[in-house]
Amino acid sequence: MITVPVRLGERSYDVLVGRGARHRLLEVLPVGATRAAIVTQDGVGVDVDAGIEQRRFVIDDGEEAKCLETVEDLCRGFVRFGLTRADVVVAVGGGVVTDTAGFAAAVYHRGVPVIQVPTTLLGQVDAAIGGKTGVNLPEGKNLVGAFWQPTAVLCDTEVLETLPPREYRSGLGEIAKCHFLDPAHDLRDLGLDGKVARCVAIKAAVVEADEHEQTGRRAILNYGHTLAHALETSGHYDLRHGEAVAIGLCFAARLARRLGRIDDDQVKEHDDVVMSYGLPSVVPAGRDPHELVALMARDKKAVRGLTFALLGPNGVEVVVGIDKAHVQAALAEVLA
Ligand code: NAD
Repeated sequence: MITVPVRLGERSYDVLVGRGARHRLLEVLPVGATRAAIVTQDGVGVDVDAGIEQRRFVIDDGEEAKCLETVEDLCRGFVRFGLTRADVVVAVGGGVVTDTAGFAAAVYHRGVPVIQVPTTLLGQVDAAIGGKTGVNLPEGKNLVGAFWQPTAVLCDTEVLETLPPREYRSGLGEIAKCHFLDPAHDLRDLGLDGKVARCVAIKAAVVEADEHEQTGRRAILNYGHTLAHALETSGHYDLRHGEAVAIGLCFAARLARRLGRIDDDQVKEHDDVVMSYGLPSVVPAGRDPHELVALMARDKKAVRGLTFALLGPNGVEVVVGIDKAHVQAALAEVLA
């Protein structure tokens, strides 16, 4: 079992990574907890035993279920269960479950402890780490939320065996991203547990430096994401998140090369990493490049012109005010 600490003063916690990590739940329960509300989905199929009185709360599948109505249902269920501030919420599922249950825990009784048990690869390397919780509104994704750090995170790699292949690939896109956030280590040399733990450590270091997204440091976690979000929006989510991120990484490399930040070898490395995970590197046919550029200009980072997280001599940094012609030309390089 690999332990990755997340050091946030009194909000510090450990992330346990490895086969069977879910069975360590009893050890990481808050002292004095007598009830555990287990939030999950039927399709997850992962059982946990908190060793105290526990009740299962099942939420629906998909982004539509990540909404305020689900949070209300959960909180009302917690009241009926008798959950107090001394007790604990345990989220067992992918990012939809960990985001929704984490937010319900943040607001129920103005905050009860939550333990995250992410069961998708994306959840283990990204969504369940770092304390961002929240839900969608009809107007857009993740518009209501809170920073609420968990008491512990249990990344049990054994449970990934039942994950549908496309969901697994989605997590691989975030792992591909991590190759460029920590060039000192080659993630390709590591087994699955090692890869997950390394990605957790990379995200933990960024979160430790910018827990509440105030210094801008946390924006480097969005490497490859500006085009990815545009692709997701324009294609009505026909690509899984990690597939879109993979294409976004190949695009970001070309944009960085046009700006003289990286060389041909580094661009090739992006393509090699993405392909080594069996992920797509080009924009699917039929997408309108003008629409994609317009969507990228609306990215939440883009307060001063077109803005991207880009690799350069000092690693990945946020670069503002990029000439639209460079963006169009780099995009043309990754069109199918
Ligand atoms: P998801 O939660 O929808 O899970 C994908 C599917 O896999 C679901 O149908 C789920 O029931 C099923 N599943 C989960 N575990 C399984 C298992 N072990 N075996 C079989 N099936 C299983 O999708 P996701 O990709 O995990 O998460 C996406 C969400 O994460 C998005 O809402 C996104 O906004 C959020 N997210 C949050 C953060 C953050 O920092 N809070 C970061 C990245 C993504």
